[in-house]
Amino acid sequence: MSSPSKILIKGGKVVNDDCSFISDVYIEGGEVKDVGVNLRPAKLEGIKVIDATGKLVIPGGIDTHTHFQFPFMGTHTIDDFYQGTKAAVAGGTTMIIDFAIPNKGCSLIEAFNTWKGWADPKVCCDYSLHVAVTWWSDKVKEEMGILAREKGVNSFKMFMAYKDLFMVNDNELYHAFSRCKDIGGIAQVHAENGDLIAEGAKKMLSLGITGPEGHELCRPEEVEAEATQRAVTIANAVNCPLFVVHVMSKSAAKVIANARREGKVVFGEPIAAGLGTDGTHYWHKDWSHAAAHVMGPPLRPDPTTPKYLMNLLANDDLSVTGTDNCTFSTCQKALGKDDFRKIPNGLNGVEDRMSVVWEKGVHSGIMDENRFVAVTSSIAAKIFNMYPQKGKIAKGSDADIVIWDPEATRTISAKTHHQAVNINVFEGMVCHGVPLVTIAGGRVVYENGVLNVVAGHGKYIPRKPFSDYVYSRILQRDEVCQPVPVERKPYTGEVVQIK
Ligand SMILES: [Zn+2]
Repeated sequence: MSSPSKILIKGGKVVNDDCSFISDVYIEGGEVKDVGVNLRPAKLEGIKVIDATGKLVIPGGIDTHTHFQFPFMGTHTIDDFYQGTKAAVAGGTTMIIDFAIPNKGCSLIEAFNTWKGWADPKVCCDYSLHVAVTWWSDKVKEEMGILAREKGVNSFKMFMAYKDLFMVNDNELYHAFSRCKDIGGIAQVHAENGDLIAEGAKKMLSLGITGPEGHELCRPEEVEAEATQRAVTIANAVNCPLFVVHVMSKSAAKVIANARREGKVVFGEPIAAGLGTDGTHYWHKDWSHAAAHVMGPPLRPDPTTPKYLMNLLANDDLSVTGTDNCTFSTCQKALGKDDFRKIPNGLNGVEDRMSVVWEKGVHSGIMDENRFVAVTSSIAAKIFNMYPQKGKIAKGSDADIVIWDPEATRTISAKTHHQAVNINVFEGMVCHGVPLVTIAGGRVVYENGVLNVVAGHGKYIPRKPFSDYVYSRILQRDEVCQPVPVERKPYTGEVVQIK
């Protein structure tokens, strides 16, 4: 069993999103009991002591975007909640937020219960669930309220793509966003113009383009940027906070940066793959290599994209990092060997996100260690209302902690990763920044390359609505920013008669 419930981490540099300091950290019963210099618990007997001298002690990563064992495009993702969370902790992530996605016409609550039923017996670290709104009715509206009040769901995702499957139209978006606002939820969008993609795909096929490059060609950047702008506009019309998942292009990121500068409450989530690799792979001669990179929105062929997104992330134009971990092995991807539209969309990231962001962000000099913590856990915890329980090392916080070696390197490879999928889109990448020890829920689950996880040890984390980080501005605007009528004397003159 992996349960020394008392752990003393000695002499490391504790890194939170606001500051770093040399300190010991004492953990007991799954919680941080004390943070301070030279901590001396009454008796050391039964306490696991970890020397972290010269290392960083950081809050465990929160991956805001995974799809484990997701039934999609005729198959299901190969990493389930066990394999997926096991890989997560091996990479220094101690919480994931997955998506319960009902089909059109189906109950949101049933979808939530189904996903929770899959996750509970399998998760090796804590998790939570966003719920998708894939259609609109009074029942959906009512169920969103029940999920927010009783099930701990404060984030709802709407798809502007996947026409005829999950896509909702602008009017449905308006109603879903309005409902999110009523119940204190955060509206999330997959921002791509689904109508244009469907037409673009037909055009590519008519040109004889059936391979993975067609996937990108039928949905160029502007298709993402246009939908992002539309979502920002609709959310602003109802004063609802917006969270744009998987921001993949420079032009979509610019839309979000501009909206933030105009004062709109919008957050952007780039993903590990978008920060660590690019869409030139769709033109690779090996079909399976190219297909492994297929996801929606696609990685962009402009090779300056990853660095651009990282700079925006460093400067708070973008806010958090997820992965959209949605893995299919080569034989599953091959469902689309003759038609790129049938290649299951998705790729890996849950295990490698922390190292990729450290390498491309911190090691490269674009962001500092505190911003790294902010974009890998703290801001996600604030937006989704679980801060400082998560995303911070402080007395009373959950004992989700990683001892991080910023100097060590590792080479990412499908041969050595812990995911079930047979391909890794970061294959061969050398990353500085290696997790030495991962503590999840007060248990050492990974230490010096050895996993010690137990399926079902993770907990479902319920999240209350009306997160202050998001909603204090929103509610204040409702108070003071409403338009008011002009006081006038009534018009008493002549009115034309209409016959
Ligand atoms: Zn996704």
